[in-house]
Amino acid sequence: MTILILGAGQLARMMSLAGAPLNLNVVAYDVGSQQIMHPLTGEVYKTTLEQAIESADAITAEFEHIPDDVLTLCCNSNKFYPGKAAIKTGGDRSLEKALLDKTQVACAPYQLITEKAHLELAVKNLGKPLVIKTCQAGYDGKGQWRLKSDDQIAQIWSEMAEFIASGAEDAPHSIIAEKMIPFDREVSIIGARDKQGNVAIYPITENEHTNGVLTLSIAGKNNQQIEQQANDAFTKIANELNYVGVLAIEFFDVNGTLLVNEIAPRVHNSGHWTQQGCHCSQFENHMRAVAGLPLGNTQLKHITAMINVLGQPSIPNGVLKTSDVTSHWYGKTAKPGRKMGHVNVSAESINDLADKLGELTDYLPEQDYPGILKAATNLMLCE
Ligand code: ATP
Ligand code: MG
Repeated sequence: MTILILGAGQLARMMSLAGAPLNLNVVAYDVGSQQIMHPLTGEVYKTTLEQAIESADAITAEFEHIPDDVLTLCCNSNKFYPGKAAIKTGGDRSLEKALLDKTQVACAPYQLITEKAHLELAVKNLGKPLVIKTCQAGYDGKGQWRLKSDDQIAQIWSEMAEFIASGAEDAPHSIIAEKMIPFDREVSIIGARDKQGNVAIYPITENEHTNGVLTLSIAGKNNQQIEQQANDAFTKIANELNYVGVLAIEFFDVNGTLLVNEIAPRVHNSGHWTQQGCHCSQFENHMRAVAGLPLGNTQLKHITAMINVLGQPSIPNGVLKTSDVTSHWYGKTAKPGRKMGHVNVSAESINDLADKLGELTDYLPEQDYPGILKAATNLMLCE
């Protein structure tokens, strides 16, 4: 069976690695160069997108910012999962908020902005500070402003106006202002839904972001208090979208109440730990779902932490001295802050994970891998 993935980055690469043992052959469409290629070797094929669509058994995507004509072409084949509506919703915060309102899943209070009066309304109704985000085209904290005082309004508005004006008639740009949530922590839920509507959900992941980018995830802590809320939100949203594949939802945990931050209609960085932490990884489950195969086991096998490697030329070999550490390298050219790879660390207990994270700080310095020591200390305290 051949699966065509829109996007040829690390997520396509890891789906390809997960699909191979299932006899699923993956080809990727690089949206930038408009070429069909092998997601692992980068070998470029002489195939056109139309030919690749024709010869694929199923089509999926590794990101949500895909040109509309490409999405339409894929949808018309009736082989595209999770479908155009889900991808569009994940790529537009205004559609995402509408979906949350419709399914009655709680999120941060917000105000849509297309003109200056809406920004003033947001300041009046939501208060300060505000987190302001472009509805389209944002990722990894890009396309965001923090409004803390009234004297920032003019400057921020001029930048917002530029973004709004750069939209096209058939693809308008808008902005959303959200109340800044004083969360205790950020968590996410990853799960899969198959073509028959069966759902399999992974345990909650706790996520640490630095400058808007995920740096560390931990799965396997006791999250009993919020597990049901997260699973309910997942099921409501996945069912509403008639979703097929892996879906990720990021939340703010405010004193035991979850507010949705974002929905990602794809495998997600905060689910990379499942490669070692579960019997069936998020990548394998996404491949299974879109290929029409039964979903795999999402139960926790090992408490696992994932550390992102950002902007580094390689993963220090020393980390492999710590037992139960696996290295995942994406084979990309290094640029400051770019996601280059990740390291998964599995453990028998929370204390064991704290010890292993402590050991890893010998090889992973704080300035390049922030928050590992703090996470190790917190884990010891929570036992
Ligand atoms: P991603 O790479 O996850 O798609 P993104 O660029 O789409 O990131 P968000 O997830 O919306 O952006 O925001 C990035 C981070 O900024 C969040 O993980 C959170 O730490 C912080 N943040 C976003 N919105 C809020 C809010 N309303 N209140 C407090 N913090 C926020
Ligand atoms: Mg996010």
